[in-house]
Amino acid sequence: MRAILIEKAESGQRVALGEVDEDRLPQGDVTVRVDYSTVNYKDALAITGKAPVVRKYPMVPGIDFSGAVEASSDPQWKVGDRVVLNGWGVGETHWGGLAQRARVKGQWLVRLPEGLTSYQAMAIGTAGYTAMLCVMALVKHGLKPGDGEVLVTGAAGGVGSTAIALLTGLGYNVVASTGRPAETEYLRVLGASEVVDRAQFSSPGKPLVKERWAGAVDAVGSHTLANVCAAMRYGGAVAACGLAGGMDFPATVAPFILRGVTLYGIDSVMAPANLRQEAWRRLAANLDRAKLDAMAGEISLGEAIAAGARVIAGQVRGRLVVNVNR
Ligand code: NDP
Repeated sequence: MRAILIEKAESGQRVALGEVDEDRLPQGDVTVRVDYSTVNYKDALAITGKAPVVRKYPMVPGIDFSGAVEASSDPQWKVGDRVVLNGWGVGETHWGGLAQRARVKGQWLVRLPEGLTSYQAMAIGTAGYTAMLCVMALVKHGLKPGDGEVLVTGAAGGVGSTAIALLTGLGYNVVASTGRPAETEYLRVLGASEVVDRAQFSSPGKPLVKERWAGAVDAVGSHTLANVCAAMRYGGAVAACGLAGGMDFPATVAPFILRGVTLYGIDSVMAPANLRQEAWRRLAANLDRAKLDAMAGEISLGEAIAAGARVIAGQVRGRLVVNVNR
C-alpha cells in the first residue's frame, strides 16, 4: 500500500511517501480500504514534528479516515460497510489514515450516515466533528438563537469554518474572529454576520469586560480564550476545543463566579461512541452541503506532507481532504 511514514531520525524525524507492506499494519479486527483522510491541525503537528503527537515510530499519521470495510472479524462490521474514524490515538500511537489501508479496532469505527459521501465525511473530518461536539455542548447548555451573538475564534480554520456553518444553519447570529481579513467574504458565505480582527483577543486583557457573547466556540486557547470568557454575557457558555494560539489559559475566575459563565471542554479523541454517532448523525442532517463544498479542497497523498507546514503557518483555509489513492 502507499502510505506516509514518519520514522525517527538522528535529528528529529523523517517523513516520506512510500510503499509499505500491508503485513506491517498494526493489530486490529477490521481492515479498511481508505478513500480519504485529511490534514488536521494535529496531523500537521505530527508531520512537521512541531509537537510530540507521534508516540511510536514508525508511524503512519492521519487521525481520521473514511472508507469501506475490506475484512472484519468483528460481528458488528461486514465487508463493504462504509465507515468513518476519528481519534482514539490513531495517527499517534496506532497507524492512521494517510495510507491506502488501515487496520483498527471495530469499536473505534462509526457507520457513515446515509446522505454523506466518503469525500464529504473527510471534508468534515475531525475538525468538523469537533465543531459539532462544540455546538452540541452549547445547545445542551440551553443556548437559543435569540439569546445573542455567538463568537467563533480561529474562524477561517477547519473547526471554525464548520462551527460557523453549523451554528448559522441552526439560526444563531455568528461573529467570526480571524487574523485573515482577506477571508472576510468566505466567512460571510459560511454565514457570519460580522467578521472581527483576532488581534483584539490575543493580548493580556482585563478579568471582565463589557458583556457581549451569549455563546462561543474557541479553537485558539491562551489569551484569546481568557478574553472571550471575560466578555461573556451572564449565564453564557464557551466550548473550548483548541490551542492554535497556545496551550495556556491566563484567565481569572471572575467570569465564572460573577457572571455564571460555563466553560465546556471538548475532546473528540476519546469521546464515547454514542456521542460520536449523534454528532455524525447531526452533521449529515444539518450541515449545508454548499457551505461544506466552499470550505474543503482535495489534495493527493504526497501533497499532504508539504501541507503540514502550511497548516501550522495558518495559511490553509477550511479543510484539506487527502485522496489517498491519488
Ligand atoms: P486549523 O489550522 O484549520 O485552524 C486553526 C485556526 O486558528 C487558523 O486558521 C487561524 O484562524 C487560527 N490561528 C492559528 N494560529 C493562531 C494564533 N497564533 N493566534 C490566534 N489564532 C490562530 O486547525 P483546526 O481548525 O483543525 O483546529 C483548531 C484547533 O482545534 C487546533 O488547536 C486543534 O488542535 C484543535 N482541535 C481539537 C480537537 C479536540 O478534540 N479538542 C479536535 C480537532 C481540533 P484565522 O486564520 O481565522 O485567524
